[in-house]
Amino acid sequence: MPELPEVETVARQLAQLISGRKVKGITVRDEKLRGPEFVQLTGYTVKTVERVGKRVVLSFTGSGEKPPLWVSVHLRMTGRLIWCPDDAPERSCEDMYAHRRAVTEKSLRLTFALSGGELRFHDARRFGMVLLHETPPAGDQAALEPLSDAFTAARLAELLSGARGEIKPWLMRQDKLAGIGNIYASEILFDAGIDPRRSGGSLDAAEVRRVHRSTVKILRLAIKYCGTTFSDFQDAGGKQGKFQKLLKVYKKEGSPCPTCGGAIERIVQQQRSTFYCSACQH
Ligand SMILES: [Zn+2]
Repeated sequence: MPELPEVETVARQLAQLISGRKVKGITVRDEKLRGPEFVQLTGYTVKTVERVGKRVVLSFTGSGEKPPLWVSVHLRMTGRLIWCPDDAPERSCEDMYAHRRAVTEKSLRLTFALSGGELRFHDARRFGMVLLHETPPAGDQAALEPLSDAFTAARLAELLSGARGEIKPWLMRQDKLAGIGNIYASEILFDAGIDPRRSGGSLDAAEVRRVHRSTVKILRLAIKYCGTTFSDFQDAGGKQGKFQKLLKVYKKEGSPCPTCGGAIERIVQQQRSTFYCSACQH
């Protein structure tokens, strides 16, 4: 499941590749996506591509009196948005992902024919969603966006005060903070030196400031390295992220802690694996 840095990576790359391109047509290959009248986008122009929470949101401008439209894409487990320019030979476009699992002719669910190329939505497991909107799709109203100015140590302290649940699953609550999943929650707490089993409400002011600082640092760094790729995430060009090389604890059970040399441990919290160093995290 892509987290904030992966979705942000896809949105930023797509913005560079397709902003200003005109929609020539839409082909829906999957019955599950047939509901919305995507055909009305024909003749519209891609204005922006942005991340909203964990979704990629495309905005479109119409010609003349036509009102603007938006499309949101939730990638979920295996969804991918892949740009195939016309000037790339079809074979090289196929080669770009042909060797990767789950991107085949069968996984193609929807195609936007744009001026200069095609934007393809592949999704082998079909958990992803593509929706057409007549008003800008908003994020979860209650959730704080961790890369916005609204996310401050003081605001985080407010949210955490009285929180009885463990801090690691708390960081993954999409009604509290947008976009943090299992990979980055472990990495953030290692960076902050906080034991993932502590209750959210037990953190003192200095510890909350550390979690705040590490959250921003780790997410920004992951975006810089285009996200983390294990099996499923690919960026908009069909390539893989590079942040997996910078992971310090996630899936490193038994490996030496980069700080103290002790063994990284794995525990299970709310059915999800957590990786941490019991010597460095308190
Ligand atoms: Zn350690």
